[in-house]
Amino acid sequence: MRVLVAEDHRLLAETIATGLRREGMAVDVATDGGETLNRLEITPYDVLVLDRGLPVLSGDEVCRQVGVRGWPVRVLMLTAAGTLADRVGGLDLGADDYLTKPFDFPELVARVRALGRRSVAPVPPVLRVADVELDPARRSVSRSGQPVTLTAKEFTLLAYLMARPGRVVSAEELLDHVWDEAANPFTTTVKTTLGRLRAKLGVPGIITTVREGGYRVDA
Ligand code: CA
Repeated sequence: MRVLVAEDHRLLAETIATGLRREGMAVDVATDGGETLNRLEITPYDVLVLDRGLPVLSGDEVCRQVGVRGWPVRVLMLTAAGTLADRVGGLDLGADDYLTKPFDFPELVARVRALGRRSVAPVPPVLRVADVELDPARRSVSRSGQPVTLTAKEFTLLAYLMARPGRVVSAEELLDHVWDEAANPFTTTVKTTLGRLRAKLGVPGIITTVREGGYRVDA
């Protein structure tokens, strides 16, 4: 899942980004409304964590633009104001969810994850392909009932592929949704991580390489 955190308070932005990365999400940070729109234009983010009080362009205006341009990103708006009128106002602008500062970090993570699920086709609670099981809520993977220990990145990569059985996913698409700009943005990164993932999953392999740099998990 690829997330953009738009927050001008740099320490808060980095804290949120670090925490979401720890959950296996690919996270970029923007510190004003203009930069936020520029990034949204270029990159297909799944979720936007949007501070309402942003410089250059306010969070409200960014939210309005997301609606006007028809971008499919889900918006979680963060605001210091917590009155009912403000809540309704934020949702009126097209935010999908709303969180009042200060917030509990586990709640932010849970809401981002819930929005991410809504941004693609509904994902079943536990993903199964052959004898491989992946539980997104528990962040666990097993094969024939034996636990497989994966890094956060390997887990996110496998979850992305297993949520799209039978579909060829390009290395570029994986880079867009599984990695962020802090990572080395090359398709060789995908290849390397996939190699480690395949080795950990063992044989027979469930991930097929298709043509040039495409991958598929068979249903
Ligand atoms: Ca702010």
